[in-house]
Amino acid sequence: MSTQKVLVTGASKGIGKGIASVFAKNGADVAVLARDLAAAEATASELAQATGSKVIAVAGDVTSKESMTAAVNRVVEAFGGLDVLCANAGIFPAAPLEDMTEDDWDLVLNTNLKGTFITVQSAIPALKNSSAGRVVVTSSITGPVTGFPGWSHYGASKAGQLGFIRTACIELAKYGITVNAVMPGNIMTEGLQGMGEDYLSQMANSIPLKRLGDVEDIGHAAYYFASAGAGYVTGQTIVVDGGQILPESLEALG
Ligand code: NAP
Repeated sequence: MSTQKVLVTGASKGIGKGIASVFAKNGADVAVLARDLAAAEATASELAQATGSKVIAVAGDVTSKESMTAAVNRVVEAFGGLDVLCANAGIFPAAPLEDMTEDDWDLVLNTNLKGTFITVQSAIPALKNSSAGRVVVTSSITGPVTGFPGWSHYGASKAGQLGFIRTACIELAKYGITVNAVMPGNIMTEGLQGMGEDYLSQMANSIPLKRLGDVEDIGHAAYYFASAGAGYVTGQTIVVDGGQILPESLEALG
């Protein structure tokens, strides 16, 4: 396979950075997209230096079609095309249902669910020109499988993404584009690092593999969906959670 040309949204930190890192380590050309261009540039130069691959920063806001169309054009200009779109950007501000405002709901749904639609739609013209177009969406276990207080809007957005991919994959199949989703469990990101030892060890103890996920654990799953070997896999999901959703009770964890 020739060098893959990859765009990862929400890649200045967290899971998106882990996805970008795995592709860069495997020799892909990678574009790191975030609203904060300076943060995206810092991540891009860190990954370029660490891997020797071509990694660029692109400013973009997944809630804006205009912004995402410009971002995709910028990637195509820099790399000469686009093969892989990782629609990863997402937010998770908590709000209990009784207090949730319509603005709270709209912000999360507009970013996570409508943002996924806007991101994928903006990339279709470029992906159609690839011989092996791939879309990998970052969903979650929260919503499709589990729930957590404060995240009814977030869970709805993450479950909605799975409904989206099941029709998107059919519509895009005629172009040879596959559309799949990764469902992460609790992943150690910069945001979690400040939560303190007690909190983190309690979380780790509720997971059969006894650790939080690493951002690159999600990157490897995305890399699989984008690989030549996954060319016949579309409309599918993979849970990457260390077994977190499986124990029936605390007793099951031993
Ligand atoms: P994070 O560390 O907070 O990073 C979020 C990234 O998204 C940043 O690069 C941020 O940069 C970007 N972003 C936010 N809003 C954006 C917008 N409107 N347009 C473009 N970029 C935007 O988040 P994370 O924890 O890695 O989560 C990433 C994805 O994984 C999300 O879809 C989340 O739902 C999913 N997930 C996370 C976990 C977990 O344990 N962390 C578990 C399951 C699923 P800017 O602010 O500069 O734009």
